[in-house]
Amino acid sequence: MLPFRLVYSSGYYLPIGEHVFPAQKYRMIHDWLLQKQIAGPEDFLEPQPASDEDILLVHTRDYVGKLKTGTLSPLEEMQLEVPYSPELVRAFWLAAGGSILAAQRAMADGVSVNIGGGFHHAFPDHGEGFCVIHDVAVAIRRLQKDGKIKTAMTVDCDVHHGNGTAAIFGANAGSPAPLPSSAGFSGRGKPSITTTPASDVFTISLHQQNNYPAWKPPSSIDVNLPDGVGDADYLHWLDNALSSAFRHFKPDLICYIAGADPYREDQLGGLALTIEGLKQRDELVFRVARAREVPVMVTFAGGYARNVGDTITIHCNTVLAAKERLPAR
Ligand SMILES: [Zn+2]
Repeated sequence: MLPFRLVYSSGYYLPIGEHVFPAQKYRMIHDWLLQKQIAGPEDFLEPQPASDEDILLVHTRDYVGKLKTGTLSPLEEMQLEVPYSPELVRAFWLAAGGSILAAQRAMADGVSVNIGGGFHHAFPDHGEGFCVIHDVAVAIRRLQKDGKIKTAMTVDCDVHHGNGTAAIFGANAGSPAPLPSSAGFSGRGKPSITTTPASDVFTISLHQQNNYPAWKPPSSIDVNLPDGVGDADYLHWLDNALSSAFRHFKPDLICYIAGADPYREDQLGGLALTIEGLKQRDELVFRVARAREVPVMVTFAGGYARNVGDTITIHCNTVLAAKERLPAR
Protein backbone atom coordinates (compact mmCIF):
# COMPACT_ATOMS: atom_id res chain seq x y z
CA MET A 1 0.00 0.00 0.00
CA LEU A 2 1.27 3.47 -0.90
CA PRO A 3 1.82 6.06 1.84
CA PHE A 4 -0.51 8.38 -0.09
CA ARG A 5 -3.63 8.18 -2.26
CA LEU A 6 -4.05 8.23 -6.03
CA VAL A 7 -7.18 9.83 -7.45
CA TYR A 8 -8.64 8.22 -10.56
CA SER A 9 -11.90 7.57 -12.38
CA SER A 10 -12.64 5.69 -15.60
CA GLY A 11 -14.67 8.83 -16.40
CA TYR A 12 -11.40 10.72 -17.04
CA TYR A 13 -11.44 9.25 -20.55
CA LEU A 14 -11.74 12.11 -23.04
CA PRO A 15 -14.20 11.38 -25.88
CA ILE A 16 -12.12 13.04 -28.61
CA GLY A 17 -11.68 10.20 -31.14
CA GLU A 18 -8.44 9.90 -33.11
CA HIS A 19 -6.26 12.64 -31.63
CA VAL A 20 -2.63 13.39 -30.78
CA PHE A 21 -3.79 13.48 -27.14
CA PRO A 22 -3.86 9.82 -26.03
CA ALA A 23 -7.36 9.78 -24.53
CA GLN A 24 -6.79 6.31 -23.07
CA LYS A 25 -3.67 7.29 -21.14
CA TYR A 26 -5.37 7.63 -17.75
CA ARG A 27 -6.75 4.09 -17.86
CA MET A 28 -3.40 2.79 -19.12
CA ILE A 29 -1.54 4.48 -16.23
CA HIS A 30 -4.07 3.05 -13.74
CA ASP A 31 -3.70 -0.47 -15.18
CA TRP A 32 0.11 -0.24 -15.38
CA LEU A 33 0.43 0.88 -11.73
CA LEU A 34 -1.62 -2.16 -10.67
CA GLN A 35 0.16 -4.60 -13.00
CA LYS A 36 3.60 -3.52 -11.81
CA GLN A 37 2.39 -3.62 -8.21
CA ILE A 38 3.44 -0.02 -7.72
CA ALA A 39 -0.06 0.49 -6.29
CA GLY A 40 -2.90 -1.70 -5.08
CA PRO A 41 -6.64 -1.24 -5.67
CA GLU A 42 -6.95 0.22 -2.14
CA ASP A 43 -4.63 3.11 -3.07
CA PHE A 44 -7.12 4.64 -5.50
CA LEU A 45 -9.85 7.09 -4.59
CA GLU A 46 -12.78 7.77 -6.91
CA PRO A 47 -13.53 11.50 -7.29
CA GLN A 48 -16.90 13.19 -7.67
CA PRO A 49 -17.37 15.86 -10.34
CA ALA A 50 -16.71 19.42 -9.16
CA SER A 51 -19.88 21.39 -8.48
CA ASP A 52 -20.78 24.32 -10.75
CA GLU A 53 -20.13 26.51 -7.71
CA ASP A 54 -16.53 25.20 -7.58
CA ILE A 55 -16.00 25.76 -11.32
CA LEU A 56 -17.34 29.32 -10.94
CA LEU A 57 -14.58 30.10 -8.43
CA VAL A 58 -12.30 30.35 -11.51
CA HIS A 59 -14.44 30.47 -14.66
CA THR A 60 -16.95 33.09 -15.82
CA ARG A 61 -20.68 32.41 -15.62
CA ASP A 62 -20.94 33.15 -19.34
CA TYR A 63 -18.33 30.51 -20.31
CA VAL A 64 -19.74 27.88 -17.92
CA GLY A 65 -23.23 28.52 -19.35
CA LYS A 66 -21.98 28.01 -22.91
CA LEU A 67 -20.27 24.73 -21.94
CA LYS A 68 -23.37 23.40 -20.21
CA THR A 69 -25.77 24.34 -23.00
CA GLY A 70 -23.50 23.53 -25.96
CA THR A 71 -23.52 27.12 -27.22
CA LEU A 72 -19.83 27.84 -27.76
CA SER A 73 -19.20 29.76 -30.98
CA PRO A 74 -17.42 27.88 -33.80
CA LEU A 75 -14.32 29.95 -33.06
CA GLU A 76 -14.43 29.10 -29.35
CA GLU A 77 -14.84 25.42 -30.20
CA MET A 78 -11.95 25.55 -32.65
CA GLN A 79 -9.72 27.11 -29.98
CA LEU A 80 -10.30 24.08 -27.71
CA GLU A 81 -8.67 21.84 -30.34
CA VAL A 82 -10.81 18.97 -29.06
CA PRO A 83 -14.36 18.29 -30.32
CA TYR A 84 -17.10 19.65 -28.03
CA SER A 85 -19.62 17.21 -26.55
CA PRO A 86 -21.61 17.05 -23.31
CA GLU A 87 -19.47 13.98 -22.42
CA LEU A 88 -16.32 16.08 -22.82
CA VAL A 89 -17.72 18.67 -20.41
CA ARG A 90 -18.54 15.92 -17.89
CA ALA A 91 -14.96 14.58 -18.11
CA PHE A 92 -13.56 18.04 -17.33
CA TRP A 93 -15.91 18.58 -14.37
CA LEU A 94 -14.72 15.20 -13.08
CA ALA A 95 -11.02 16.09 -13.61
CA ALA A 96 -11.59 19.26 -11.57
CA GLY A 97 -13.29 17.23 -8.83
CA GLY A 98 -10.27 14.90 -8.92
CA SER A 99 -7.85 17.76 -8.44
CA ILE A 100 -9.92 19.10 -5.52
CA LEU A 101 -9.82 15.64 -3.90
CA ALA A 102 -6.06 15.29 -4.57
CA ALA A 103 -5.40 18.71 -3.02
CA GLN A 104 -7.47 17.76 0.05
CA ARG A 105 -5.62 14.46 0.39
CA ALA A 106 -2.24 16.14 -0.08
CA MET A 107 -3.02 18.36 2.91
CA ALA A 108 -3.77 15.24 4.96
CA ASP A 109 -1.04 12.84 3.71
CA GLY A 110 1.75 15.11 2.43
CA VAL A 111 1.26 14.13 -1.20
CA SER A 112 -1.50 12.99 -3.55
CA VAL A 113 -1.55 12.33 -7.28
CA ASN A 114 -4.49 12.96 -9.56
CA ILE A 115 -4.07 10.45 -12.42
CA GLY A 116 -5.39 13.18 -14.72
CA GLY A 117 -5.84 16.94 -14.74
CA GLY A 118 -3.20 19.62 -15.27
CA PHE A 119 -5.26 21.50 -17.85
CA HIS A 120 -3.13 24.63 -17.61
CA HIS A 121 -4.23 26.29 -20.89
CA ALA A 122 -7.81 26.97 -19.70
CA PHE A 123 -8.62 30.64 -19.02
CA PRO A 124 -11.53 32.04 -16.94
CA ASP A 125 -13.56 32.88 -20.05
CA HIS A 126 -12.38 30.34 -22.62
CA GLY A 127 -10.61 27.04 -23.15
CA GLU A 128 -7.75 26.28 -25.52
CA GLY A 129 -5.04 23.74 -26.32
CA PHE A 130 -7.07 20.65 -25.23
CA CYS A 131 -7.94 22.36 -21.91
CA VAL A 132 -11.57 23.18 -21.11
CA ILE A 133 -11.51 23.73 -17.32
CA HIS A 134 -8.48 24.73 -15.23
CA ASP A 135 -8.75 21.93 -12.65
CA VAL A 136 -5.67 23.03 -10.66
CA ALA A 137 -6.91 26.61 -10.25
CA VAL A 138 -10.36 25.30 -9.24
CA ALA A 139 -8.72 23.09 -6.58
CA ILE A 140 -6.63 25.98 -5.20
CA ARG A 141 -9.62 28.33 -5.00
CA ARG A 142 -11.81 25.66 -3.38
CA LEU A 143 -9.22 24.89 -0.66
CA GLN A 144 -8.76 28.61 -0.03
CA LYS A 145 -12.53 29.01 0.26
CA ASP A 146 -12.68 26.12 2.75
CA GLY A 147 -9.89 27.73 4.80
CA LYS A 148 -7.57 24.73 4.24
CA ILE A 149 -4.84 26.86 2.62
CA LYS A 150 -4.09 30.55 2.25
CA THR A 151 -1.35 30.32 -0.37
CA ALA A 152 -0.18 27.92 -3.07
CA MET A 153 2.68 27.51 -5.54
CA THR A 154 2.21 25.99 -8.98
CA VAL A 155 5.30 24.25 -10.39
CA ASP A 156 4.53 23.70 -14.06
CA CYS A 157 7.03 21.41 -15.81
CA ASP A 158 4.93 20.72 -18.89
CA VAL A 159 6.90 21.62 -22.05
CA HIS A 160 4.24 24.25 -22.86
CA HIS A 161 3.91 27.53 -20.98
CA GLY A 162 1.17 27.62 -18.31
CA ASN A 163 -0.67 30.54 -19.89
CA GLY A 164 -4.04 29.87 -18.23
CA THR A 165 -2.42 29.58 -14.80
CA ALA A 166 -0.53 32.85 -15.31
CA ALA A 167 -3.65 34.65 -16.51
CA ILE A 168 -5.81 33.39 -13.63
CA PHE A 169 -3.43 34.11 -10.77
CA GLY A 170 -1.59 37.03 -12.36
CA ALA A 171 -4.85 38.89 -12.93
CA ASN A 172 -5.73 38.34 -9.29
CA ALA A 173 -2.40 39.84 -8.27
CA GLY A 174 -2.89 42.88 -10.47
CA SER A 175 0.74 42.38 -11.41
CA PRO A 176 2.72 45.10 -13.14
CA ALA A 177 4.94 44.33 -16.12
CA PRO A 178 7.71 41.75 -15.54
CA LEU A 179 10.77 42.91 -13.67
CA PRO A 180 14.17 42.68 -15.33
CA SER A 181 15.61 39.18 -15.37
CA SER A 182 16.79 38.15 -11.92
CA ALA A 183 19.23 35.62 -13.33
CA GLY A 184 20.81 37.92 -15.83
CA PHE A 185 20.73 35.39 -18.66
CA SER A 186 18.92 36.10 -21.87
CA GLY A 187 19.46 36.04 -25.57
CA ARG A 188 19.63 33.45 -28.25
CA GLY A 189 20.24 29.87 -27.27
CA LYS A 190 20.33 30.63 -23.56
CA PRO A 191 17.56 30.20 -21.04
CA SER A 192 16.12 33.38 -19.59
CA ILE A 193 14.23 33.90 -16.36
CA THR A 194 11.68 36.60 -15.75
CA THR A 195 10.06 37.27 -12.39
CA THR A 196 6.82 39.04 -11.56
CA PRO A 197 5.46 39.75 -8.05
CA ALA A 198 2.96 37.18 -6.79
CA SER A 199 0.01 37.57 -4.44
CA ASP A 200 -1.55 34.48 -2.85
CA VAL A 201 -0.53 32.01 -5.58
CA PHE A 202 3.05 31.88 -6.83
CA THR A 203 3.29 30.48 -10.36
CA ILE A 204 6.40 28.86 -11.89
CA SER A 205 6.51 27.79 -15.53
CA LEU A 206 9.51 25.97 -17.00
CA HIS A 207 8.83 25.63 -20.72
CA GLN A 208 10.20 25.64 -24.24
CA GLN A 209 10.15 29.27 -25.41
CA ASN A 210 9.61 28.47 -29.12
CA ASN A 211 6.39 26.54 -28.66
CA TYR A 212 2.67 26.98 -28.07
CA PRO A 213 1.23 29.26 -26.75
CA ALA A 214 2.40 32.24 -28.79
CA TRP A 215 1.23 34.69 -26.10
CA LYS A 216 2.70 33.87 -22.72
CA PRO A 217 1.27 36.06 -19.96
CA PRO A 218 3.81 36.46 -17.13
CA SER A 219 4.06 33.78 -14.42
CA SER A 220 5.70 34.71 -11.10
CA ILE A 221 8.76 32.93 -12.53
CA ASP A 222 9.05 32.03 -16.19
CA VAL A 223 12.03 29.94 -17.28
CA ASN A 224 12.13 30.26 -21.06
CA LEU A 225 14.17 27.33 -22.35
CA PRO A 226 15.72 27.20 -25.82
CA ASP A 227 15.06 24.24 -28.12
CA GLY A 228 16.84 20.97 -27.39
CA VAL A 229 17.62 21.46 -23.69
CA GLY A 230 18.65 18.12 -22.12
CA ASP A 231 18.54 16.59 -18.64
CA ALA A 232 21.45 18.37 -16.92
CA ASP A 233 20.55 21.91 -18.02
CA TYR A 234 16.86 21.35 -17.34
CA LEU A 235 17.49 20.09 -13.81
CA HIS A 236 19.83 23.01 -13.16
CA TRP A 237 17.19 25.56 -14.22
CA LEU A 238 14.42 23.83 -12.28
CA ASP A 239 16.57 23.81 -9.14
CA ASN A 240 17.40 27.46 -9.72
CA ALA A 241 13.70 28.40 -10.17
CA LEU A 242 12.59 26.50 -7.04
CA SER A 243 15.36 28.05 -4.91
CA SER A 244 14.50 31.50 -6.18
CA ALA A 245 10.76 30.94 -5.55
CA PHE A 246 11.26 29.76 -1.98
CA ARG A 247 13.43 32.79 -1.21
CA HIS A 248 10.32 34.91 -1.81
CA PHE A 249 7.41 32.70 -0.94
CA LYS A 250 6.43 29.89 1.47
CA PRO A 251 3.26 28.22 0.14
CA ASP A 252 0.80 26.08 2.09
CA LEU A 253 0.51 23.71 -0.91
CA ILE A 254 2.54 22.94 -4.04
CA CYS A 255 0.60 22.02 -7.17
CA TYR A 256 3.04 20.13 -9.38
CA ILE A 257 2.01 19.95 -13.05
CA ALA A 258 4.11 17.01 -14.19
CA GLY A 259 3.77 17.08 -17.97
CA ALA A 260 5.44 14.18 -19.80
CA ASP A 261 6.07 16.28 -22.92
CA PRO A 262 9.59 17.67 -22.23
CA TYR A 263 10.57 14.12 -23.35
CA ARG A 264 12.90 14.01 -26.37
CA GLU A 265 10.53 11.75 -28.32
CA ASP A 266 7.49 13.97 -27.82
CA GLN A 267 5.52 14.95 -30.94
CA LEU A 268 4.50 18.37 -29.59
CA GLY A 269 7.68 19.22 -27.68
CA GLY A 270 11.16 20.37 -28.65
CA LEU A 271 13.19 19.66 -25.52
CA ALA A 272 15.43 16.61 -25.16
CA LEU A 273 14.89 15.09 -21.73
CA THR A 274 15.28 11.33 -21.26
CA ILE A 275 12.89 9.14 -19.28
CA GLU A 276 15.51 8.97 -16.52
CA GLY A 277 15.95 12.76 -16.60
CA LEU A 278 12.20 13.24 -16.21
CA LYS A 279 12.21 10.97 -13.16
CA GLN A 280 15.05 13.03 -11.68
CA ARG A 281 12.92 16.12 -12.33
CA ASP A 282 10.08 14.56 -10.30
CA GLU A 283 12.50 13.57 -7.53
CA LEU A 284 13.86 17.10 -7.36
CA VAL A 285 10.37 18.59 -6.90
CA PHE A 286 9.45 16.05 -4.19
CA ARG A 287 12.83 16.48 -2.46
CA VAL A 288 12.45 20.27 -2.29
CA ALA A 289 8.84 19.96 -1.10
CA ARG A 290 9.85 17.53 1.62
CA ALA A 291 12.79 19.66 2.77
CA ARG A 292 10.47 22.69 3.02
CA GLU A 293 7.67 20.60 4.57
CA VAL A 294 5.12 21.65 1.98
CA PRO A 295 2.42 19.18 0.82
CA VAL A 296 2.31 18.39 -2.92
CA MET A 297 -0.63 17.60 -5.15
CA VAL A 298 0.29 16.29 -8.59
CA THR A 299 -1.49 16.45 -11.94
CA PHE A 300 -0.27 14.93 -15.21
CA ALA A 301 -0.98 17.45 -18.03
CA GLY A 302 0.47 16.69 -21.49
CA GLY A 303 2.40 13.78 -23.01
CA TYR A 304 2.48 12.98 -26.72
CA ALA A 305 5.37 10.57 -27.17
CA ARG A 306 5.51 8.73 -30.50
CA ASN A 307 5.29 5.55 -28.47
CA VAL A 308 2.37 5.97 -26.03
CA GLY A 309 4.07 3.44 -23.73
CA ASP A 310 6.81 6.01 -23.06
CA THR A 311 4.21 8.56 -21.92
CA ILE A 312 2.71 5.96 -19.58
CA THR A 313 6.16 5.08 -18.18
CA ILE A 314 6.99 8.75 -17.54
CA HIS A 315 3.70 9.33 -15.68
CA CYS A 316 4.05 6.10 -13.64
CA ASN A 317 7.60 7.13 -12.72
CA THR A 318 6.14 10.27 -11.12
CA VAL A 319 4.16 8.05 -8.74
CA LEU A 320 7.32 6.01 -8.07
CA ALA A 321 9.34 9.18 -7.40
CA ALA A 322 6.74 10.32 -4.86
CA LYS A 323 6.82 6.90 -3.20
CA GLU A 324 10.62 6.85 -2.95
CA ARG A 325 10.88 10.40 -1.64
CA LEU A 326 8.16 10.34 0.97
CA PRO A 327 8.39 8.42 4.22
CA ALA A 328 5.60 5.99 5.10
CA ARG A 329 3.10 7.75 7.31
ZN1 LIG B 1 2.06 20.34 -22.87
